[in-house]
Formats: sequence, structure tokens, C-alpha cells
Amino acid sequence: MNRLRAWLQRLCECEASLEQELLARVLEVLGKHAFETHRRRREENRQLYLQLSHHARAGKYASILPALTQQRTDEQQLVEEHLNDLRDMAWHLLNALAQITQTEAQDDTTLRQHLQQLSQQAQRPDQLDVQTLRLALRSMTEVIARREQRHQQTLRELQGQIHHLMRELEQARRESTTDALTGVYNRRAFETCLQSTVAVHRLFHYPATMLLIDIDHFKQVNDTYGHATGDAVLKAVAEQIVRVCKRRSDFVARYGGEEFAVILRETTLRDAHKLAVQIAQQVQQHPFTLPTGERIQITVSIGISELRPDEEAEQWFRRTDALLYQAKQAGRNRIEAA
Ligand code: GH3
Ligand code: MG
Ligand code: MG
Repeated sequence: MNRLRAWLQRLCECEASLEQELLARVLEVLGKHAFETHRRRREENRQLYLQLSHHARAGKYASILPALTQQRTDEQQLVEEHLNDLRDMAWHLLNALAQITQTEAQDDTTLRQHLQQLSQQAQRPDQLDVQTLRLALRSMTEVIARREQRHQQTLRELQGQIHHLMRELEQARRESTTDALTGVYNRRAFETCLQSTVAVHRLFHYPATMLLIDIDHFKQVNDTYGHATGDAVLKAVAEQIVRVCKRRSDFVARYGGEEFAVILRETTLRDAHKLAVQIAQQVQQHPFTLPTGERIQITVSIGISELRPDEEAEQWFRRTDALLYQAKQAGRNRIEAA
């Protein structure tokens, strides 16, 4: 009987830990796709969700619900505000158009009346009244001048709104291609760059090389020093890669958790290899320093390959990934090129 009770208790504990893990993962997913709110920047919101997921794993539920409720309210407020902004903007544009068409219609009626009078007079030249003609002409000139003024004004207003919209779109475009944590390009931007590099290569046969860089034993960094330190290490490694790949055409992206991809256009395998050596040295020679002064030694493994004639983007990526895998298998902190 006692054994049965112990077994049931263990079963309950197991279910509880499964639920904890599920909740923690849900919070991690929310964190991964976090966005900016009025209260906090995107990165801060990401950290908040990660912290909550740690609480879930530790079974500290009390803090989760109030924080989550607050966060959801913030997100709802932001989305509603943006939607209202969009509605307002559409309303302003429609209103401006309605006003234009209404005033234009009034002016058109006046013009039509004058033209009617003029054509009546033209049919009976013997009764031509110079005074009426002069009045009609003046009135028509005024209508045209007013219309021109109005068009200028509307154009200025629309230009202002278009500039504002373009700035917002540019900001959104930049956010959608940038990795929030490290500031380098994200996976989506990498896919686009990969495709366009292959297309340009087909046309002009310029050499192009790809580097896939993976931090060695990164999980240990997280496990030993915590996720926030892991994040800081990722940022530092991204900075070191950017410091080496500094040409305008060098494309650096974070395409996975602790994996970076670099595309070097107009660069041969030989030259790319020199850069890879520099990256590996940079990382190794600059251990990450904690606020306590403790240093964390970081190394990376790198796969490099040059795009072959008629090679598809996917094939090129897989070939480079296989080289990275070889570098790992050969003991890490290595470069494999082909
Ligand atoms: P290997 O040398 O074989 O590459 O080992 P590894 O530990 O680096 O690789 P593994 O794939 O086992 O672990 C990668 C770890 O990276 C696990 C995951 O939690 C962590 N990670 C992924 N994304 C992030 C992130 O954005 N921030 C932090 N701090 N850790 C991350
Ligand atoms: Mg990896
Ligand atoms: Mg790794």
C-alpha cells in the first residue's frame, strides 16, 4: 500500500514538472517573438519572458500571472494604438480626397455656368456684352488660381504624411531584417542575401564565399553563468565577427541560436580563409570578462566554402554546414574549408 502511495506521489510530481516545463516553454516562445511596448524595448521584453520562464521552471508561480497580465495589457494597448493610428491616417486621406472632390465640384459648377453664358453670347455676337465677358473671365481666372493654391496645399500636406509613413516603414523594414540581440542581420535577411548572391554569381561569375561559425560548447556557458551572460557572449562574438568582416559588402547574420553566417562577395576561398583565421583568433584572444573579473574562454568552429558554378543556394549552404560539422567532429576551435 505504501509503495502504491509513493508511486502515485511520484506520478503526480512527474506531471507537475511536465506542466512546469510546458509553461516555461510557452513563455520562452512568447519571449522569442516579443516586441517593443511603451514600457520596455523589445530586448527588455524578451528578457522579461525569459525570467518568467525561469520562474516557471523553479515552480515560482506567484509572480508569473501579474507580470503576464501587465505585459499582455501593454501589448494590447500598443497594438490598438497602432491600429487607431492607421485608421486615423486612412481617415485623413479619405477626408482630404472628399474635400478636394467637393470643392472641385463647386468650382466646376461655377466654371460651367460662366462657360454657358459665354457660349450663349457667342451664338449672338450682335448682343455681345463686354462687361459680362470681362466678369466671366475674371471669375474663371480666380477659380483656376484658387484651385492651383489648393492643390499646392494638399500636395504639401500629403508629402508630410508620406514622409512620416516612409520613416515608419523604413524602421519596420530594418527591424524585420535585424537580429534584436546582436544587431547583425537575422536569418530572414540571410536567406535573401544567399539567393541574391547566387543569382549575381550566375550572371557575372564573381567569386563568393560563405562562412558558417558556431560557438563551441556554448550550452556550458549558459549552464554555468546563466542565460543573460550567454546573451552578452553572443553579442560580443557578433561584434568580433563584424570587426573582422568590415567591408561594406560583407554580410554578417545570426542564423540560429549561437550560429553566425557570413557571405563575402567577390572574395575567393583563399582570402576568406584568412578572414576566418582572424575571426577565430579574435574570439580566442578576447575572452569574455564578467563584472566579477572572471574570464570566459570562448572558441568557435568555422566551415568555409566557395560557391561553385551552377550550384544552388541550398546546396551551397548544406556543403558549408557539412564542413562546419567536420570542424566540430575534428575537435572544435578549427576551420574546415573546401
Ligand atoms: P557545440 O560545440 O557542439 O556547438 O556545442 P554547443 O553547446 O555550442 O551547442 P548546442 O547546440 O548543444 O547548444 C546550443 C545552446 O545555445 C543551447 C541553447 O540554449 C543556446 N542558445 C540558443 N539561443 C540562445 C540565445 O539567444 N541566448 C542564449 N543565452 N543562449 C542561446
Ligand atoms: Mg549550434
Ligand atoms: Mg555551438
